[in-house]
Amino acid sequence: MTGERQEWDQEVSARHAVEKVATDLGLQKEGEHYFCPGCQPLGKGNPELAIKQGRFRCFACGAEGDVVGLVKLARHSDLQGAIAWLEKETGEKS
Ligand SMILES: [Zn+2]
Repeated sequence: MTGERQEWDQEVSARHAVEKVATDLGLQKEGEHYFCPGCQPLGKGNPELAIKQGRFRCFACGAEGDVVGLVKLARHSDLQGAIAWLEKETGEKS
């Protein structure tokens, strides 16, 4: 009954969360893509990192993952550091 609606809502919120986190991380967006913090830290050339359905993928270096993975990549931190940063930034416990 409400299952499909919930799924849709979750997907939307997940996408927004990742995009918000990408912005909070200071990633530069150009069009629909971001510059990859792993292989394009200087923001030159064509942005290769795409965000979709709560996950990211870089078409240049192949890095991919969820929102936590993006924080790890951008901040060069381990899993614990990434989660701590997310909790601090979003004010939410996961
Ligand atoms: Zn990359």
